Amino acid sequence: MITLEGAQGIVLSAIDVLAPAPCAVADARGCVLAAPVFATEAVPGFANSAMDGFALRASDTAPGGARLRIVDTVRAGDVSSLTLAPGHAMRIMTGAPLPAGADCVCMIEETTSEGEFVAIARALSPGDAVRQVGEDSRIGQELFAPGDVLSAAGLGVLKGQGVRSVLVHPLARVGVLSTGNELRSDDGPRAAGQIRDRNRPMLRALLEESGCDPVDLGSAKDTREDITRALQHALLECDAVVTTGGVSMGDVDFVKVVITELGGEDAHWMQVAIKPGKPFAFGVLGPRRVPVFGLPGNPVSTRVSFEMFVRPALRARSGHRVLERPTLAARLDAPLQRHPDGKLHLVHVRVAWGSDATLHVVDTMRHGSHLLHAVAKANALAFVPDGPLDAGDLVRVMLLDTDSLGAQQ
Ligand code: AMP
Ligand code: MG
Repeated sequence: MITLEGAQGIVLSAIDVLAPAPCAVADARGCVLAAPVFATEAVPGFANSAMDGFALRASDTAPGGARLRIVDTVRAGDVSSLTLAPGHAMRIMTGAPLPAGADCVCMIEETTSEGEFVAIARALSPGDAVRQVGEDSRIGQELFAPGDVLSAAGLGVLKGQGVRSVLVHPLARVGVLSTGNELRSDDGPRAAGQIRDRNRPMLRALLEESGCDPVDLGSAKDTREDITRALQHALLECDAVVTTGGVSMGDVDFVKVVITELGGEDAHWMQVAIKPGKPFAFGVLGPRRVPVFGLPGNPVSTRVSFEMFVRPALRARSGHRVLERPTLAARLDAPLQRHPDGKLHLVHVRVAWGSDATLHVVDTMRHGSHLLHAVAKANALAFVPDGPLDAGDLVRVMLLDTDSLGAQQ
């Protein structure tokens, strides 16, 4: 058996980052930038008002207030044709360009309108309530560096610069192939001995959640030929492939055989010291060096192996530097029993913030690698080392769903 870290090391050291390609900014959210982006426009592009109020000359308010004649109104999108003279003010709305001659804005709450005059209650300084040119970004400034992940706010920044396309490491196109003579993929009636495919829909969704582009490769029968054909086809069009089933010790577990045949020295069939998810095949196959992950068929094992091996590797393939999901220490509300077997147990649990402002394991899901429904409401995986843990002990947990940790309404 190989340790989890050992197996992860084999996988990650074999992953090549996808070559950079241009991508429309609107499609690039979540992508990793492959080149720096420099500002070509100043933002703000013109001095404008931060408030609804009056544009004026600060020197007019010097002694501690002023009474000024209102000569115009400027709204966002307008430009006043006038130059503001001493003793004058203009009504101005948030985002409207500061008129020539004015150097500050007094917020409306600090003024009193008296017909065509406005009384200003205090002395102002030049620049008050004015958003200056280039305050957010200057022309030539590096907005983003290679390796930065484009967030929703980042997308707004780039569109706010008139940037149309950026150079990114593309999202990986990931083929998903189920294997097993027993699988029934459509919703039709099951014949005796058949089961419905639970892994392929789950993996497709997990891949989407993980910022990949899933490609449904259907299912293959438990024959060398069928699996070879499906994989060879996938190697032409996918950046990675995930298969399920056929990597254990059974008579027809041919996925591991085909991966090792096609991968030669670049392929590994491992027994990883984790439960579930012990058998795992991995290879970098074909001239395009496509990573292929052979996960076990039991759905809970599939899920755990996806989290341990596939997700970090696919993030690396798309240029990410942060590969792991957030992992924290959580306190056990109840003992976590397990028998000693030399393996790290990866247990689906439910975590929540306690009144002590620390994370607690509040529920442990019924275990069985075929019991997918039992773990469907879990939001974390606990890393349980050999031997039992007591209530109050700390355990390492990987958060699978951070949204569920928000405050309950
Ligand atoms: P295997 O890894 O091929 O030995 O399969 C282990 C167990 O997982 C068997 O009970 C299979 O029937 C089941 N299994 C394999 N593939 C799937 C799948 N796509 N959906 C649901 N169960 C599966
Ligand atoms: Mg099978």
